[in-house]
Amino acid sequence: MLLIDCPFCGKRPELEFRYGGEAHLARPADPADLGDKAWGQFLYGRSNPRGVHAERWRHVHGCGRFFNALRDTTNDRFAATYKIGEERPAIPEAEGAASA
Ligand SMILES: [Zn+2]
Repeated sequence: MLLIDCPFCGKRPELEFRYGGEAHLARPADPADLGDKAWGQFLYGRSNPRGVHAERWRHVHGCGRFFNALRDTTNDRFAATYKIGEERPAIPEAEGAASA
């Protein structure tokens, strides 16, 4: 079973977590100034990369808190997890780099 390292609780089974979409998306300061295309891009445009992706997760069956994670979409491995508001950790490009 895949274990996800909650920054508040430690490693727990993946069944306790829910995916919450792409991380680091900032809501526009004044949405009324945006056109329809720009607003649509904010609502629905996502990067969807192949490889390491910054994602928001929630520990729904644990502490209930949101956090960010770097997950490799090619092999489903979590490279790092970090609290909301913390800076995205630098991850080496080499595969199989496990953080302690
Ligand atoms: Zn937790």
